[in-house]
Amino acid sequence: MKILAAALALPALALAADLEALTRAEMPSLLALYQELHANPELSLHEVETAARIASELRAAGFDVTEKVGGQGLVGVLKNGNGPVIMVRTDLDALPVKEQTGLPYASTRTVKDEQGREVHVMHACGHDVHMACFIGAARVLARTRDTWRGTLVFIGQHAEERVLGARLMLRAGLFSKFPKPGHALALHCSADMAHGTVGIVEGYALANVDTLEIVVKGVGGHGSMPHLARDPVLLASQIVVALQSIVSREVRPGDPAVVTVGSIHGGTKSNIIPDEVRLQLTLRSYRAETRAHLIESIRRIVKAQAESARMPAEKMPEVHVSDDQAPALYNQPELCARVRRALLPVLGEAGVLAREPVMGAEDFAEYGLTKEKVPLCMFWLGTQAPETVAKASAEGRTLPSLHSPFFHPVPEPTISTGVKAMSAAVLDLMGK
Ligand SMILES: [Zn+2]
Ligand SMILES: [Zn+2]
Repeated sequence: MKILAAALALPALALAADLEALTRAEMPSLLALYQELHANPELSLHEVETAARIASELRAAGFDVTEKVGGQGLVGVLKNGNGPVIMVRTDLDALPVKEQTGLPYASTRTVKDEQGREVHVMHACGHDVHMACFIGAARVLARTRDTWRGTLVFIGQHAEERVLGARLMLRAGLFSKFPKPGHALALHCSADMAHGTVGIVEGYALANVDTLEIVVKGVGGHGSMPHLARDPVLLASQIVVALQSIVSREVRPGDPAVVTVGSIHGGTKSNIIPDEVRLQLTLRSYRAETRAHLIESIRRIVKAQAESARMPAEKMPEVHVSDDQAPALYNQPELCARVRRALLPVLGEAGVLAREPVMGAEDFAEYGLTKEKVPLCMFWLGTQAPETVAKASAEGRTLPSLHSPFFHPVPEPTISTGVKAMSAAVLDLMGK
């Protein structure tokens, strides 16, 4: 039995050793690429230099690259005989955040945003790490092509932070003009996991995200004569409180949902009753029915509250649901199980963690929602020194989150783990 186990483990061990050596050889140039990307971040829909850089790296690795797919998106294809078609996705964009990490390669870049305001730009969501891992995996897979058969579709997706890029690339023919993937993979930095580890969430991993604005109208007047006015400040306050009953009283316990009113603005002065108050909300859910329920309930409650405040028909509040809607990410359990099995020999038991779902958003979800129903798996990539994670957890502190100006991954071990993990997952799906 012992001899058999050793014999069975041998190919896996050989693969792990090969991946280790291949990845190590790429690390100096991947670290340089990472620092260059980190120092030169670009906002969503403006990833011109980033996309060109990633396209040229993919071409150098042997991929056939098409640029400007649905905007700044790019698609690299590597055909290597008959076999599965596997898609790997990286995102390209950064955020309007002023970096405060103090790193030597910190971003000092500023640009004009769409309103013409000067804003700082930072890779505060780790998309620069994603790109370095993506290029590393592309090189490793191209270099090992005599060991697998099939087609790699490596896509650089723009505008993830605006949850637009995936939709734009799909609309531009990602699944019709390029080989249609049988599976799609992506990774995302985790701000609170140790480097050297990856985390997998089976099933719903990230949430439906909706942004709503409620315009609460009123009839303005003098603060001393409230009986002649219809006060939208009081009505808005009642709406905020009433909305809290949706999750607590209407949604089935155990079905995750969030209704947060994150902004309330109205009025100018203590003795004036204004004629308008604006509320901004974020909604989170996993199931499509729950999402629809939240929006429907908000409309119902808002209207009923306005009626009970004697608001005239023409002063009913307006509920605007933004088009910038992100669908929930569903990690297909069978694919997750396969990825997990592929990663174990490379990262070890301690390196592959089961993680809880969170209610953030990622438009990678879109690739699984077309008629092709492509199975998806996006896994988390640890970015922090294990001692930092242990210390923060012992002290009950949270580490700087994604999108924080202080978020900084430890590049070398993070990227090398990402390259090995992504390469191992793809090789497994290719039948190797
Ligand atoms: Zn982000
Ligand atoms: Zn992100």
